Amino acid sequence: MTARSLQSAERLCKEKGLTFTPLRRQVYGLISADRTPVGAYELLDRLKKQRANAAPVTVYRALDFLQEAGLVHRIDALHAYAACEVESADHSGLHGGLHGGLMLVCNRCKTVTEFENPGLEQQIAQTALQHAFHASEDLIEIRGLCGVCADGS
Ligand SMILES: [Zn+2]
Ligand SMILES: [Zn+2]
Repeated sequence: MTARSLQSAERLCKEKGLTFTPLRRQVYGLISADRTPVGAYELLDRLKKQRANAAPVTVYRALDFLQEAGLVHRIDALHAYAACEVESADHSGLHGGLHGGLMLVCNRCKTVTEFENPGLEQQIAQTALQHAFHASEDLIEIRGLCGVCADGS
């Protein structure tokens, strides 16, 4: 799977009535261009090549927006951000860009593969409801070795 194109991200923002500013576009471009998740400070370094005056807050604000729009996910295991790889119709229907899924995180090569799982999403929503819990994330990270790394070359 691959991340949405910039055009597709732009369309998604439009559908949600969100403004995809040049900065947000740039940050999304930097994240989606990378095969592996990118840390905030790494992003700042790259952004500075295009915008010399970029500050950490510039990056964090753009990241907050992209996460809320459902374009980018924070991968806690790697302290980094990855572009959402799920481009489905109902993706935009959920509040705050939430969508149940599994993130398979490779410990060795740091690649992340995202799988959508509507059943899981429902289960999480149900469990949360039973406990009057308000979930802000319903992605589950699973760490291990990807197929390539597990083959151990
Ligand atoms: Zn996603
Ligand atoms: Zn791997």
